[in-house]
Amino acid sequence: AQSALDAIAARHELNAFLHVDAELTLAQARAADAARAAGQAGPLAGIPIAHKDVFVTRGWRTTAASAMLKGYASPFDATVVERLGAAGAVTLGKLNCDEFAMGSSNENSAYGPVLNPWDTSAVPGGSSGGSAAAVAAGLAVGATATDTGGSIRQPAALCGVSGIKPTYGTVSRYGMIAYGSSLDQGGPIARHARDLVELLDPMTGFDERDATSLERCGEQPNAAGRVRAAFDAWTAQAQARGSKPLAGLRIGIPREFFGAGLADDVRMAIDDALAQFEALGAERVDISLPRTELSIPAYYVIAPAEASSNLSRYDGVRYGHRAAEYRDLAEMTSRSRAEGFGLEVQRRILTGTYVLSHGYYDAYYLQAQKVRRLVADDFQKALRGQCDVIVGPVSPTVAWNLGEKTDDPVAMYLADIYTLSLNLAGLPGVSIPCGFGQGPVNGRRPVGLQIIGNYFDEGRLLGIADVFQ
Ligand code: GLN
Repeated sequence: AQSALDAIAARHELNAFLHVDAELTLAQARAADAARAAGQAGPLAGIPIAHKDVFVTRGWRTTAASAMLKGYASPFDATVVERLGAAGAVTLGKLNCDEFAMGSSNENSAYGPVLNPWDTSAVPGGSSGGSAAAVAAGLAVGATATDTGGSIRQPAALCGVSGIKPTYGTVSRYGMIAYGSSLDQGGPIARHARDLVELLDPMTGFDERDATSLERCGEQPNAAGRVRAAFDAWTAQAQARGSKPLAGLRIGIPREFFGAGLADDVRMAIDDALAQFEALGAERVDISLPRTELSIPAYYVIAPAEASSNLSRYDGVRYGHRAAEYRDLAEMTSRSRAEGFGLEVQRRILTGTYVLSHGYYDAYYLQAQKVRRLVADDFQKALRGQCDVIVGPVSPTVAWNLGEKTDDPVAMYLADIYTLSLNLAGLPGVSIPCGFGQGPVNGRRPVGLQIIGNYFDEGRLLGIADVFQ
């Protein structure tokens, strides 16, 4: 923990951390040492990790990278924080991200952007840019993150590390500051798939304090131990297959993920990865996910709609910044919100309020919900019958330069094309590094490979990722 704190201070320019408190961290580390001495060490005893600043923590401030919540002190820990702590993990602090997790480049943080450790002129991706950058720079062994439309997988890809967005409902959202509640799911970022097993397994499990938490995952209870057991069972079978550990595995290649928008350098790295899958025994199947393009407008209606509702609580009374000067109650609220929220958050609130308003609801929100169902159906058609998992890119390009897309929100939204559809469907997806593409001037920038499975398939997805890695 001490060496991690030193590393965090040494790489201050990355701006990956928003809140660090060495005393609190070292107190947790001493408690982990004491537990180990008493023979009561949990599976993560003493492992230094950090939390995205949308998970509330007792001790460390929680801001969701917003000026609205500057200085906010939560009276309780999020379930994810509590469970990782109970497993023995030591918290290093809170990680920078896009404000309220809205963004794809970490440039929407009220506390400044995070830099990509591979090339500090590049964005780290978002919204969990601090989580990915901290792991990539070796500042933390693992980090929590959240994924509403790609925010675990895409920054992991752009920073050359691994991440998993679990099945919706398997990881508790209690104490995770809400963005789009029907899409948000917490999960870990780490270097390697095996580390993801260690982190995700204790995070997983039913929580009665989250109304959308699942009690069962198919035949099994939703509980710690499920992901690890599935990973171990799959890995044992793969090892028994000798030099072709992926023999019999049908990997679906969605043709819509390889269209004109995919950059050549990313395509080459993904093609190499697919050849490696075949060398390991997997069989390629050509599949179609015809509603892929529609998932962008559908997501950018549904997510802002839910955000506009979730963010109504920041009124300067119950939560958040309150303007210093106002004439009446209405002005207090509007000034507080205008001062507290950044421009992208305001854009989402306006969009969301519009699509939910009388006269537009049917044309936008209802229509988007119908598309959402069709997107989910496309995945089921492919995953029940045609293939076992789906493989493709995470992001159409490598990390872009800081500032390159900040004036063009639609260009930023389009970069989410390969990740959004899983959130609409609630499916799990892993992102693992698979080589490098070209940076515009400075050479290599990482490429990520996405492996998508059916509901509750986390253990197997991580097993496949581990064989590949
Ligand atoms: N880039 C997407 C958005 O801005 C996804 C963000 C996320 O997953 N939190 O909404």
